[in-house]
Amino acid sequence: MRVVHLLSDGVSYWDGGGAFGLVPRPKWMKILPPDEHNRVPQELRCALIQADGQNILVDCGVGDKPNDVIATQYEVRRPHGHLLDDLARRGLAPEDIHAVILTHLHGDHAGWATRLADHTSACRPTFPNARYYVQRQEYYDATHTNERTRNTYFPENYTPLAQAGVLTLLDGEAEIAPGVRAVPTPGHTAGHQSVVVESESESHPPVLILGDLATYMIQFARLPWVTAYDVLPLVTIETKRAWQQWARAREAVLVSPHDTQIPVGRLVKTDKGFFEVQPAAL
Ligand SMILES: [Zn+2]
Repeated sequence: MRVVHLLSDGVSYWDGGGAFGLVPRPKWMKILPPDEHNRVPQELRCALIQADGQNILVDCGVGDKPNDVIATQYEVRRPHGHLLDDLARRGLAPEDIHAVILTHLHGDHAGWATRLADHTSACRPTFPNARYYVQRQEYYDATHTNERTRNTYFPENYTPLAQAGVLTLLDGEAEIAPGVRAVPTPGHTAGHQSVVVESESESHPPVLILGDLATYMIQFARLPWVTAYDVLPLVTIETKRAWQQWARAREAVLVSPHDTQIPVGRLVKTDKGFFEVQPAAL
């Protein structure tokens, strides 16, 4: 059995200009209407892959550690703790997670990787029996930040993993479990990765867990629609171009990290010859 479930750490509200970058506001606001503060919703979506008796978590939301930047910039409107609650609803405790794949180490993807140890200010891995997988490039960039990147990386989310000896740094594509592959998808960050889950049956399509290769599904369909957060936007475009072809050829099921309207979809070509992501089921 190999199945993918969607989990969530809540919904955050971020500035629409950050989410859509150079795309003019009149264009994106038709698709995702902003609130009175120009903020748009972003689901903090995570995925649980159950494969061959293993529980593999992809991404970890914002977590519950006190964080001024997240409190002021992300505005999470549901209470923290949602991700662990979602796991509990599936009958899983943190101890039951065997592996955690982090698409990248931004604060909205790596939050629950660690948590505060009881009665101390030290952080420890939230999932005590898990090995954590990150691209080596991503870990390097997260530990060597600059003026542009430092507000998106919070070391308490990932340096305790290295200190605890539970972090595996990947150099490119890697099979995490049979049929579950981490694949480099650079652009949002240089060391960003996505996750491919192959079906056991040839007649069923694979699942591609995008991570921030595309924040919203429309950004996967439209090559020039890139967030302002992407550090290598031109690389994002080429990475998306390649994975669009792959997704079409394999009729892949796509999982979005933040899209509140289309969490799961499939890339199709419209009558006018444009790509579009239409809702699909896992
Ligand atoms: Zn994100």
